[in-house]
Amino acid sequence: MKNNKLVIITPCYNEEEIIEYSIEQLLLVLNIMIDDELISHNSKICFVNDGSSDKTKKIVEKYCKNSKIALIDLSRNYGQQCAILAGVNSVDADIYVTIDADLQDDPMLIIDMVKKYLEGYDIVYGCRKKRDTDSFFKKNTALLFYKFMNLIGINIRQNHSEFRLMNRLAVEKLKEYKEKTIFLRGIVQNLGLKSCNLYYDGLERFAGKTKYSGFKLLELAWSAITSFSLLPLRLITVIGLFTSFISLIVMVYAIVSYIKHYSIPGWTSIIMAVAFFSGIIIMSLGIIGEYLSKVLIEVKNRPLYQIKQTVNLGERV
Ligand code: UDP
Ligand code: MG
Repeated sequence: MKNNKLVIITPCYNEEEIIEYSIEQLLLVLNIMIDDELISHNSKICFVNDGSSDKTKKIVEKYCKNSKIALIDLSRNYGQQCAILAGVNSVDADIYVTIDADLQDDPMLIIDMVKKYLEGYDIVYGCRKKRDTDSFFKKNTALLFYKFMNLIGINIRQNHSEFRLMNRLAVEKLKEYKEKTIFLRGIVQNLGLKSCNLYYDGLERFAGKTKYSGFKLLELAWSAITSFSLLPLRLITVIGLFTSFISLIVMVYAIVSYIKHYSIPGWTSIIMAVAFFSGIIIMSLGIIGEYLSKVLIEVKNRPLYQIKQTVNLGERV
């Protein structure tokens, strides 16, 4: 069987409660596919330990006796996006599947994903049918996020997180994206290759806690917006035009008051104007600063992650 080496890439951060179960489940799925001759015998599952401070690494290392289990140990916590990228960039495969370690995404769907790959698709997106298992907060913030992204013209696949299959071509194209603030979902969609969606029931996390706090989610959403939209910058121009129009009216009023010897110059109106305009100026500067900081990050061109150690990885790329 040629061109069918699959590597499942799983980022893990403090997942000691769940990782053994995940390894067993993913191995099961991998073996089913090998037995059915859907994928080649040298297929693997690669766990990327994203600087866990618990026993996650130890547990994965124990399983590395099995050559189908590989480990990439990052030197510290870099975040899920970088951990996935570390996996994708470090292993050589024909088929890459990324899936979270908590298996909230249905691992059995990987079999259908691989079948779609064999039909000739470059990318297969795993999408949740509904988000019943998510908390009220997560469900609604996600909905708001999709709505807002659509509104500003960024097309994001609904209810798709990081569970997807990419073929060699898609990964080669992905590697051409050199940006440092990464929003994988956006970039992969940007590749524009032949793709399809597969739907599954999202499951509840049965052990361990979510690693995405409100703040981290907000950071990801902001990274998505500033990576894919220039709208905030353009908004400054619109706000600038609007405030100029208002100040024109204020100026006319001031001149008329002066000519007609109306009231004493009003303290309140001055204060209000100062407050209003300084608010807008500061906000605009803030938005410019956001983009400027991204330019700075790109210019620095720092590596996205550092690998400390690898086990069973085979051929490195
Ligand atoms: N994760 C990671 N680094 C981080 C945060 C999360 O590698 O800094 C991994 C985590 O172990 C899991 C996946 O990313 O495999 C998704 O995280 P989580 O399940 O906490 O997110 P949620 O499903 O709640 O959005
Ligand atoms: Mg999860």
